[in-house]
Amino acid sequence: MIEVKSHFIVNKGMGGSMKIFKFGGTSLGSAGRIKKVTAIIGEALDHDKIVVVVSAIHRVTDLLLESATKACGGDSSYRMILNELEQLHHSIAGELFSGDLLEPVIVLIRSELTELNDFVHGIFLLRELSEKSLARVLSYGERLSARLLSSYLEEQHIASFYLDASKLIVTDTNYADALVDSHASELNIRKRLASFDGVVVVTGFIASAPDGTVTTLGRGGSDYTASIFGAALGATEIVIWTDVDGFFSADPKRVRDARILPYITYAEAMELSHAGARVLHPLAVQPAMKAGIPVLIKNSFNIAAEGTRIERSMPSDISRTLPVTGLSSINKVVLLNLSGSGMVGVPGIASRLFSCLASNRINIIFISQASSEQSITLAINPAQAVKAKKILEDEFQSEIGFRQIDPLVIRRNLALIAVVGNNMSGHPGVSAQLFETLGKNGINVIAVAQGANEMNISIVIDSHHEDKALNCIHESFFLSQRKVHLFIAGTGTIAKSLIGQISAHRHNLKKDNDLDVVVCGMANTGNIALDDNGIDLQNWQSALLPRVDHHDIDGYLQIIKERNLHNTIFVDCTASAKVADVYPDFLLGNISVVTANKLGMAGQWPLYQRIKDARRKSNARFLYETNVGAGLPIINTLHDLKNSGDKIISIDGVLSGTLSFIFNELRKGGRFSEIVRQAQQAGYTEPDPRDDLSGADFARKFLILGRELGYTLEYGDVVCESLVPEEYRGEMPVAEFLDRLSSVDEWYAAETESAAKDGMTIAYAGEIRNGKASIGVKRVPLSSPIAGLSGSENMVVFTTERYRATPLVVRGPGAGGEVTAGGVFADILRIASYLV
Ligand code: ADP
Ligand code: ASP
Ligand code: MG
Repeated sequence: MIEVKSHFIVNKGMGGSMKIFKFGGTSLGSAGRIKKVTAIIGEALDHDKIVVVVSAIHRVTDLLLESATKACGGDSSYRMILNELEQLHHSIAGELFSGDLLEPVIVLIRSELTELNDFVHGIFLLRELSEKSLARVLSYGERLSARLLSSYLEEQHIASFYLDASKLIVTDTNYADALVDSHASELNIRKRLASFDGVVVVTGFIASAPDGTVTTLGRGGSDYTASIFGAALGATEIVIWTDVDGFFSADPKRVRDARILPYITYAEAMELSHAGARVLHPLAVQPAMKAGIPVLIKNSFNIAAEGTRIERSMPSDISRTLPVTGLSSINKVVLLNLSGSGMVGVPGIASRLFSCLASNRINIIFISQASSEQSITLAINPAQAVKAKKILEDEFQSEIGFRQIDPLVIRRNLALIAVVGNNMSGHPGVSAQLFETLGKNGINVIAVAQGANEMNISIVIDSHHEDKALNCIHESFFLSQRKVHLFIAGTGTIAKSLIGQISAHRHNLKKDNDLDVVVCGMANTGNIALDDNGIDLQNWQSALLPRVDHHDIDGYLQIIKERNLHNTIFVDCTASAKVADVYPDFLLGNISVVTANKLGMAGQWPLYQRIKDARRKSNARFLYETNVGAGLPIINTLHDLKNSGDKIISIDGVLSGTLSFIFNELRKGGRFSEIVRQAQQAGYTEPDPRDDLSGADFARKFLILGRELGYTLEYGDVVCESLVPEEYRGEMPVAEFLDRLSSVDEWYAAETESAAKDGMTIAYAGEIRNGKASIGVKRVPLSSPIAGLSGSENMVVFTTERYRATPLVVRGPGAGGEVTAGGVFADILRIASYLV
């Protein structure tokens, strides 16, 4: 106990039960935090006796590690890190203590830091850093925080004393991750704390080997210290005070929708923390479980939150309906693969493998062996990979020499994800659901393991996909509402209408379809808006900012890939060939594509083939209904006919609103050039009506239909009659073109009249028959559905084996922002229902 002058100390917490309170680094991260922690302790002392276990202050262990590593490498900047540590602790002390009370605390801190300086300087001089010296260096973090807290408790008139756990917890000499001698440690703790007054402030994380040298319990080991003390002292509860509201169904910092778990069992907590749930040290459950002491996870930043209670079994009045309790992940593992035909049926290979790794203290995180016995796959910590490989190569040297076992392969940059739950046992379909959701998101599972207790399915995947996998698995098992993430290209008419429609309908989709359509990106060539949680659809225009890097569609693709959100759909609302050219890259990156842009499906044959190949190889979807006839269900109808075994004999149709209008008016007796002028003035045509009259866009749609029927067609194969006379093409101004166009009026009038004599009319229409596609002015019987078109309607007539006498007709408006956006939206929802 430090000497504190002129104020009295209260010995609270004399009666009641005893609890262990462990405070993590962020809970002690500043003077303000230490005051808060003191208040928590003070309040608890009204009912219970409290033993406090502390971690080092936030970041301190990392800084200590960095200083030692730098010193060992001969980098003198280790001194700056030590200065930073000194400043940090001094400034916290300066805020906590004033007047006479400050000096003794500064003296304590200084004495710890002087020792630390000497040690690190020694490492610098020797250029040598053993696990033993590192443990010693790291131990100062907890010593300093415990000193500060116990002094501050005293300052607040709460009797307290500092206790160095390394004097009590006995371990082996595995300095970084020491193995605790529970029996000896518990005896020491009981003896030392057989009776005590006030609050004990214990250094977490540190222990000592039998010879008294300092060891550590592994990163995050203060939780373990708390549990060891709790079990030794027969505490009624071990409370782990941290920076989140409790144990969540997944790390809340990585899975935004993670839920708090009010209760979990010891077994579940153990599985989850072993597989990376950092909120609790993996070994911390054991002592508590053995002694039957509940462990509580509470938030020191939000004491009102109930937290999580970890016990042997769930309270009887709580029933869990979900098979999965939680997910966790280890973001860096390596796989070691031992394989070879010589392993089959040879007993003892596994035993040799595990024994030699165990005797070298290599911790195996995951094991998988298929029944063929041809290979055994292990996941281990990357820091031990090289050592493990060497050990195994030595052990199996002769088998490798005789080629019975293949040379060992190490695979790096992997993550392990564990899906955990007591209720998974005997619950069919969990694996199926897990693999389906991963598959649809293009996440390849490299290795799998499930124990026979069926409490944990562990998978190993590429570490790049870790967050995406956590989020999609979590959504699949825990949430009734699913998300799709949209990245839109283009901010023109179609995009505007689409945003309007999503915004208007989003609420209903959530309510009725349990689907949340989140627009995470909008971009045109100059501007971009990005927000993984959803751009505000009412104000998306003001969210657009100039693109400073990641230019063009390739840059946008890169951003989308880096974000790597689950259920991502790229929506092309541009008319850009550059964008269409990248569709295969999206698909191969497992990003689904919805496009209103024809330049992919009507692009040159090599692009069309690349898209087709990418669709085949990818699990992502590609939909383009609006490429032909905007919102009209033409492509889907065609697919349904084909997929249900109908044979398509021919497709006829009018797929240009402008040309439809012109010929429908002509049929009423108008003059061609006047109708064109009228259409242009009403805005039905492109600014230069020749773009419509050339038939180019119409031809692209027939090209797409022809390709859908399986014909190898290029744009040039579609016979396309242009209505722009040869001599009016090229540079002629629009006004002059319109003036001169009257020269063709007579021809149309005569043609219409002559057709009428045969019970026919003329229309600009397209047809596909016997592998040949053509568009142009055609005579059609007055009884044909095409002759009945009005306004700017589009129409497609499918003549098939089933629809031979009366062809199947799809008719309606074939252009316009709203209908096109509606078609795009419908495609998005189609993909969403596949994905979720
Ligand atoms: P402390 O410093 O209090 O020991 P840690 O950083 O060691 O805190 O552990 C708390 C962190 O654990 C949380 O901030 C959270 O990001 C992470 N975490 C990982 N998995 C989970 C989970 N399933 N539930 C809660 N937190 C988790
Ligand atoms: N300070 C140690 C670490 O950062 C132990 C702990 O926080 O529990 O790993
Ligand atoms: Mg921790």
